Amino acid sequence: MLEFEAKIKIIVIGLVLTMLSAVPIMAQEMICEYCQEEIGSGEYFNLDGKYFHAGHLFCTYCDKPIKSEFNYSGDEYYHLKCYDKHVALRCDLCGEKINGKYVTDYWGNKVHVSHQDDGEPECAYCGRFIGEQLSRGGYRLSDDRIVCGICNETAVSDDDAAQFLMSEVGDVMATLGINVDIANVTLHLVSKPEMTQKSEGNGDGHLGLTTSKYEAETRKLVGGSQVFILFGLPKYSFIKVMAHELMHVWMAENRCVKGSKIISEGSCNYTAYLVLQKYDHPNARYELDSMERSRSKTYGSGFRALRAFVEDYGFDFWLEYIKSNRELPSKTNIRAD
Ligand SMILES: [Zn+2]
Ligand SMILES: [Zn+2]
Ligand SMILES: [Zn+2]
Ligand SMILES: [Zn+2]
Ligand SMILES: [Zn+2]
Repeated sequence: MLEFEAKIKIIVIGLVLTMLSAVPIMAQEMICEYCQEEIGSGEYFNLDGKYFHAGHLFCTYCDKPIKSEFNYSGDEYYHLKCYDKHVALRCDLCGEKINGKYVTDYWGNKVHVSHQDDGEPECAYCGRFIGEQLSRGGYRLSDDRIVCGICNETAVSDDDAAQFLMSEVGDVMATLGINVDIANVTLHLVSKPEMTQKSEGNGDGHLGLTTSKYEAETRKLVGGSQVFILFGLPKYSFIKVMAHELMHVWMAENRCVKGSKIISEGSCNYTAYLVLQKYDHPNARYELDSMERSRSKTYGSGFRALRAFVEDYGFDFWLEYIKSNRELPSKTNIRAD
């Protein structure tokens, strides 16, 4: 959420002028801005030294003449009703007028700062405030996560849908040249407490987790990999997490050495980034943008360091490099952020 001052929108709020009667002595010097004729006698508007005959000042919204009170800013004039109904900035959450500061989310919704201060809930996955109009309502999942109605429409909540998307992500990765044996992956949709338990307490806030067992000496996989993903993620969040976890599987299948978090998590998020780029959808772009902006050392900077590394050394080199290296070349780390 970013904070803005509503004043960037044009209108001088609450500045109301009423018609004045012409003063004969002054009339000689007063020229109507609209018709360029002298005001002469009769009613006119005086707006900071700009004059208009009554009937020669028009509402910017409805084009009809303004006869009495109005709001204006610069060269735009509005009937009070037109302004209030059609022009005034309105809060996308409560519908009331915004005077002064407001916050805007990624999607361009503008809401009163007070809603944020009051701790009104935001969607965990797209950052929208939860409101009937704004987000088509919202839901509290059984593990207390709050998801908006829009995200809920694509929520991945059953095994069939999850399995289908796992195959799809596997196919996209294969077209990139990252081949994962999906048949050897068991997928589990889990709740937040289950995720925390699976990751032995380190999974707070994690959306996904992969576990693979190796023979200690050969690093050969024993059995398949287990992928755990939170239930109820909206489609493109799920795709991002799925691609990330499948890259962990790829690293396990290819007996990669256990590298630093930067190189392992960075590689997985870079894979998610490549996969999301294959989807032309606003929510895919939202996920990509949050990766670009992420301040996390591992998932943000690590990802960007990996991307810089691949740009420098090439895609195939990356996939070979991570098999036997625990760190990125130091020059790449310096380039990140
Ligand atoms: Zn005129
Ligand atoms: Zn009007
Ligand atoms: Zn509001
Ligand atoms: Zn949402
Ligand atoms: Zn990871």
